[in-house]
Amino acid sequence: METALVYDARLAAYDLGSRHPLRPERVTRSVERMSAYGLLGTTIETVAPRAASDEELLRIHTREYVEAVKKVGATPDRFFPAHGIGTPDTPAFSRMHEASALVAGAGIIAMEAVMGGRYRRSFSVAGGLHHAHRDHAAGFCVYNDVAVSIAHALAQDPHLHIAYIDIDAHHGDGVQEAFYAEPRVLTFSVHESGHFLFPGTGFPDERGEGAGLGTAFNLPLPPGATDACYRLAFERAIAPAVRAFHPDLIALQGGADAHHSDPLTSLGLTLTGYRWLVESVVRLADELCDGHIVAFGGGGYSWEDIVPRAWTMLAGALADVELPDALAQDDKEPLPADAEKRLLDEVEATIARLVQTAP
Ligand SMILES: [Zn+2]
Repeated sequence: METALVYDARLAAYDLGSRHPLRPERVTRSVERMSAYGLLGTTIETVAPRAASDEELLRIHTREYVEAVKKVGATPDRFFPAHGIGTPDTPAFSRMHEASALVAGAGIIAMEAVMGGRYRRSFSVAGGLHHAHRDHAAGFCVYNDVAVSIAHALAQDPHLHIAYIDIDAHHGDGVQEAFYAEPRVLTFSVHESGHFLFPGTGFPDERGEGAGLGTAFNLPLPPGATDACYRLAFERAIAPAVRAFHPDLIALQGGADAHHSDPLTSLGLTLTGYRWLVESVVRLADELCDGHIVAFGGGGYSWEDIVPRAWTMLAGALADVELPDALAQDDKEPLPADAEKRLLDEVEATIARLVQTAP
């Protein structure tokens, strides 16, 4: 088997509460669906995660922050406003450190699976917590498993070049921040514009700094952006930027919250569009880096059905398995041609700005 799914039931302990939109069922139902489609144990091998060590977390996070997460998880009623914990977005919960370190460790295992040569592709389905910052939690994210895994890969092989593609509806701000000055990591986030959506960043003029200047890319999309907008973004901006970078490995944050039904966002991607997008990223990895790709879950709040379908399609794309079209079936009415044209023009103009701001 060439593809690893890093997962076990312990990952459901990352639970921000029964009223929180980031429900653990997003992940468990996705894995059930992958199993129902016969992917697991045939083309995809399930590999157990382990907890990230303090040393591994400290490559990205400050010691003070990690200690605060440990403390608040031992007495979850305590409020740590300085570290972003205890907010409605990221409430404290029991054993918060242990649950979050396991998600981060799952990402490390996914990275090692590919780097060690045992697998060509891997998927840490419970991961993708891209909003966590160096010294504070944000946007449902405690430890930044994506950044911790990429930093781990760089520690193993200092010559590695990693292209990170983030298709979550929200800007991948924490990952961008972690590697803003790092020339070995390209970050490309396509997301609903920060003028309309959390975290309010991710504009074309954010291009990296110092030795990393030119390795950060952001393509904010207007609300309602359709499959055709994503296609334009991928073909005209994402793929050329990643090709020019010559990565050894592609990391993909495959958040499913750009779907038109998502309750927290206002984009217009369909399941068919999502499938096209993730298959395109996999093909890009085939073209550029021997198929080496490490995928992460991410956001996605249509948790009962849409997210499990999206992540099953992502797993299918990673395993080169053609799944029935019914899985991608969507009920979205197409936009009137003039409305779609206006959106495409807007995306085109943003791509032009991205080209203009190239350092
Ligand atoms: Zn998101």
